Amino acid sequence: MSALTELYGEIAHCQLCELAKYRTKVVPGEGAEDAGIVFIGEAPGWHEDQQGRPFVGPAGLYLDELLASINLKREQVYIANVIKCRPHGNRDPLPTEIHSCRKWLERQIEIICPKMIVTLGRYSMAMFFSGKSISKIHGTAQKRDNVIYYAMYHPAAALHQQSLRRAIEEDMLKIPLLLAEVEGIAEDKPQPQQLTMFE
Ligand code: SF4
Repeated sequence: MSALTELYGEIAHCQLCELAKYRTKVVPGEGAEDAGIVFIGEAPGWHEDQQGRPFVGPAGLYLDELLASINLKREQVYIANVIKCRPHGNRDPLPTEIHSCRKWLERQIEIICPKMIVTLGRYSMAMFFSGKSISKIHGTAQKRDNVIYYAMYHPAAALHQQSLRRAIEEDMLKIPLLLAEVEGIAEDKPQPQQLTMFE
């Protein structure tokens, strides 16, 4: 049994917060255990709660299109959420729920060891870019310990606002260059200069 499959078994029994009472299925995440990129959204919605899979509703279909724009399929990346059970009534997750659930995401990242972590929306952004505003930092990256952290809007937000749609599509197209940079580091190659980094 793979380390991720074992972890999914643990998450399936999690009762660490109130959301356990309301879920139909827990939604741990899915994708390649050796994925180079991990995409992290907010929380499961209705479709995800029914199927136990992340990003399978309209926002998920749009994420698939965005991935296709850089020649990637969802099986080649890893997709997860900040919290693993649907907040009832589609409300925002509470800070206590995010805190309780954080350890699962941390263990997923430890197992996968990605080269790049892409945050989708403000909840996942807040975990990795504390105190930043998504309207200011989307499309920019920060490198820490040879991992690129990259902030993007959530696909669901972009579906409902045309101006964000253009931004998310442009931001997605920057990912191959960012990934090439990290691979360049690993192989000790010269670094591209055209990246927008922030501290
Ligand atoms: S949301 Fe996370 S912490 Fe809360 S019950 Fe589900 S898996 Fe556990």
